[in-house]
Amino acid sequence: MTDLQVDSLDCATKPLESGADYIESLRNRSLKVFLFGELVDEPVDHPIIRPSVNAVAESYDLALREPDLATAISPITGQRINRFLHIAKSRTDLVMQNKMQRKMGQNTGTCFQRCVGMDALNALHSVTFDIDQQHQTEYHSRFTDFVERIQAKNFVIGGAMTDVKGDRSKPPHAQADPDLFVHVVERTDEGVYISGAKAHQTGCINSHWLVVMPTMRLGPEDKDFAIVGAVPVEADGITYIYGRQSCDTRAMDGEVDAGNATFSGQEAMVIFDRVFIPSKYIFHKFFHLLFTLLSQYLLTHFNFKFLVNEIK
Ligand SMILES: Cc1cc2nc3c(=O)[nH]c(=O)nc-3n(C[C@H](O)[C@H](O)[C@H](O)COP(=O)(O)OP(=O)(O)OC[C@H]3O[C@@H](n4cnc5c(N)ncnc54)[C@H](O)[C@@H]3O)c2cc1C
Repeated sequence: MTDLQVDSLDCATKPLESGADYIESLRNRSLKVFLFGELVDEPVDHPIIRPSVNAVAESYDLALREPDLATAISPITGQRINRFLHIAKSRTDLVMQNKMQRKMGQNTGTCFQRCVGMDALNALHSVTFDIDQQHQTEYHSRFTDFVERIQAKNFVIGGAMTDVKGDRSKPPHAQADPDLFVHVVERTDEGVYISGAKAHQTGCINSHWLVVMPTMRLGPEDKDFAIVGAVPVEADGITYIYGRQSCDTRAMDGEVDAGNATFSGQEAMVIFDRVFIPSKYIFHKFFHLLFTLLSQYLLTHFNFKFLVNEIK
């Protein structure tokens, strides 16, 4: 997305409701997706990719079939929203998150790809609040504005945290190649441009927006690597390299021995080449509390699930 483009949150489109609406919303985005070394014409129709789209679509249909399980009332707007976009406010919310995820697992038998985005939203909700309290910044209100608009459109969010990292013994600023960690390459009055790559990105091509976050704790010398923000999946400068899975070509061999023919997961490498993030979608750009973000994300992504199992 350049600073002149209108993004999908500014477009006057109706909120997505069904799985079919969701699948249609992914078409014609002109994404640069490579699989088998070739540019994919329309990811939605590719036989290896389509089952992963179907798995996310089930999260929309489940919300229509079982609203008590798969929707919640947004504390931000008071509207009923998909539970994958809900900011958890209570132990009951965590238990319900977990029950919904179990049901999604039972219905699809695969990774349904929305947990990382949900956990990123929950972690950022509290961390942006804490940053504002300590540093008199305005990240939390920007972030809640973004979440409100995402909830209104009923979009899918991907959580883009894992950098490719290079030498694991060195912090980002000490790497031989700065692109081994996503970083700011230019700052303007309107926003920032980022470059680098994120690996193993679950459901990224099936998402509408990606929330970019740093992988690890950062020090003052890593200032350019301290960037948290949201970008549309179709933003200018993004390339996706599809992650191969064992036996994935069975999906192209016909129906016999196709394994789980309807549903599958998805991971890809996401390469950012001077991708613009306007200021309204930047939720952090220095290094205050980013260790807290990392630990909060990990707590959200892993411990919530264990915690919920303990509560039950
Ligand atoms: C199926 C799948 C889906 C995923 N989805 C997402 C996603 O949606 N979004 C996202 O952001 N990430 C995602 N990930 C990435 C995941 O979070 C990372 O794979 C994980 O954090 C490990 O990072 P790595 O792969 O770089 O491994 P490494 O960091 O290379 O770790 C490999 C091994 O080396 C060890 N190690 C690493 N550094 C050191 C060190 N300095 N000293 C000693 N030992 C070390 C580790 O403990 C580990 O045993 C996904 C991964 C998988 C497999």
